[in-house]
Amino acid sequence: MEIESNFIKTIMEEDLASGKVEEIVTRFPPEPNAYLHIGHARAIITNFELAKQFGGRTNLRFDDTNPVKEDSSFVEAIKEDIQWLGYEPANIFFGSDYFEITYDYAIKLIKKNLAYVCDLSQEEMRDYRGTLTEPGKDSPYRNRTVEENLQLFEEMKAGKFGDGEKTLRAKIDMSHPNMNMRDPVLYRIIHIYHHNTGDKWCIYPMYDFAHPLQDAIEGVTHSLCSLEYDDHRILYDWVVEKCETPHVPHQYEFGRLNITNTIMSKRYLKQLVDKNLVRGYDDPRMPTLTGLRRRGYTKDAIKDFVLGTGLSRINSTVSSEMLENSVRNDLNYKVKRVNAVLEPLKVVITNYPEDQVEWLDAPYNKDNEAMGNRKVAFGRNLFIEREDFVEEKPNKKWKRLALGIEVRLMYAYFITCNEVKYDDFGNIVELQCTYDPKTKSGSGFDERKPNGTIHFVEATTSKRATFNLFEPLMIDSDSKRDLEDRLNPNSWSELEGFVEKAIEDTHPLERFQFIRKGYFSTDYDSSSEGLVFNRICELKSSFK
Ligand code: ATP
Ligand code: MG
Repeated sequence: MEIESNFIKTIMEEDLASGKVEEIVTRFPPEPNAYLHIGHARAIITNFELAKQFGGRTNLRFDDTNPVKEDSSFVEAIKEDIQWLGYEPANIFFGSDYFEITYDYAIKLIKKNLAYVCDLSQEEMRDYRGTLTEPGKDSPYRNRTVEENLQLFEEMKAGKFGDGEKTLRAKIDMSHPNMNMRDPVLYRIIHIYHHNTGDKWCIYPMYDFAHPLQDAIEGVTHSLCSLEYDDHRILYDWVVEKCETPHVPHQYEFGRLNITNTIMSKRYLKQLVDKNLVRGYDDPRMPTLTGLRRRGYTKDAIKDFVLGTGLSRINSTVSSEMLENSVRNDLNYKVKRVNAVLEPLKVVITNYPEDQVEWLDAPYNKDNEAMGNRKVAFGRNLFIEREDFVEEKPNKKWKRLALGIEVRLMYAYFITCNEVKYDDFGNIVELQCTYDPKTKSGSGFDERKPNGTIHFVEATTSKRATFNLFEPLMIDSDSKRDLEDRLNPNSWSELEGFVEKAIEDTHPLERFQFIRKGYFSTDYDSSSEGLVFNRICELKSSFK
C-alpha cells in the first residue's frame, strides 16, 4: 500500500522537480521518555513511506536533549517498535551526539550579537514576556557586550552557576506578535547526569534551538512534525538562517492522529502504568505499539489503518472500529479458523459408544484451500458454548440448540437435545443429546434441515485455555475528567474454556480465527500447561 497523494507528498514532488532538493531526507525524532503509541505510528509511517517512495532515506533520531525525562531503556523499545513496523532507519542518531556542535553554533550567535546571557528567573521572564495582546519588555541583561556574554556562557558551561541561575537567550524581538520569538531561551543550566554524555554537560539546548540544528546537520530536507509546532516554525527558520548552517532544512506540520476511547498522550499512558491501572506498557488494552502487538495486531493492519486515515493539516479523531476493520481484513484469509469454546456447556451424546473418539476432516480456512485440512475430534463427551443453548426455542430466528431441536455440529453430525440436567441451584450443567450417524459431514445427507450450525469441541482431546476478552480501556474521551473516573471497569475479562487439539502446539503471537468468536492471538504467557489467548477483535463490527 502506497501513500496516496497528500499535501506533504505534493511539496516533495515539487521540491524534487524544481531542483530545490536532490533527495528526500526525513527523520523520526522520538523523545526516549516513553513507549511509542499508535499516534506515533502515523509519524513513523509518514516519514519512512514518503522517503521510500522518492528513493530517499529516513533517520531515527532520539531527541534526548532534555536529560530530566529520559531513560535509555526506552531506546531499545522504540527501536524494536520501528523494526516491527518493517522500517530500517538509514542512521540512528542521538540529539546529544550534537551537543558540541550545537554549543559552537550558540557561540556563533553570541558573536553575531544575536544571543545573550540572561539572569532573569523563570517567573521574571514570564513577567517580561508580555501577553498575546501586549508586547513584552526587554530584559535588563539584553545589552551585555559580546565579550561579557562569551565569558558568562563559558562559565555556564564550566558549571559556575546553579540550575536556573542563568540562561542563554536569542536576541530577537520582545514585541514580536509570535510569543515564541520574544527572546526564547536557547540553553538552560541543569546539573544532572545524562544517559549518553554523563556529567560532561550542565547546560542543555532547548528543543527549538537543538531541533533545527540537528535537522541541518543530518541533511534533513523535510522535517515533519505534528501541528502543535506550527507556531514554532518561524523560530526554526530563524535558527537555521542566523546560524548559517551549510544545509537548510524545512519544517512541515501535519495533524495528529487520535482514536476514540483511547488515550494517546504519553503522560497518561505512564500514569496508567505507574498507578497499576494496567498490567504494563504491553498490556493488550494499551494503544502502545508493544500493547497492540501483544494483543495480536499485525504491522500490516496498522499500516493499512494509518494510511487509510490520510494525512492533512487537521488533527483527526478516528473510530477505533477502523483499526479493527484493518486487522479483520488482514487476517481473514491468512489465519486458521478453528474451534474454541469460551464458556463451555457439557454435552453427552448418549447413543455414541463410551471410550471412542473419531477424527473428522475439516479445512483450516474454507476460503483459503491452500491452508489444508485438520482433524476434528467427535465423541461421546463434547462442549458447546453455553449461549448456544436455550431450553425453549424462543422464536424463528433462533438458529441454535434447544430442547427437542436438532442442529448441525460444524464438520461433524446433527445432534438433537433430549434432556437437560441441573445442579441443586437450578443451573443447567449438562445436555443429553443423540446424534444421527447418517448426517456425517461430507456425506451429502439432505433429508432434513437442521436448526442452524454451531461449533463444539470434543471433551477428552481438547485443551484447556484462558481467553482474555477486551473492551476499550476508557469509557469516554472527555479529557477533562479524572483519569480513574474514565476507566472502563469491564475492559478485561477472562474466560476458561477449551480449544481443539489441532492448535495445542501454538506459539506466542500466532493468530487464529476462533469460529464465531473472533480473532485471537496467542499470548506471551501461553504454555503447553496453560494456553492463553487474547481476543484481537470480534468477527463482526459491533459499531452502532
Ligand atoms: P505525546 O504528546 O503523546 O506525549 P510527543 O509528541 O511528545 O507525544 P515525541 O516523542 O516527541 O512524542 O514524538 C515523536 C514524533 O511523533 C513527533 O514528531 C510527534 O509530532 C509525533 N507524534 C506524536 N504523537 C502523535 C500523534 N498522535 N499523531 C501524529 N504524530 C504524533
Ligand atoms: Mg514531543
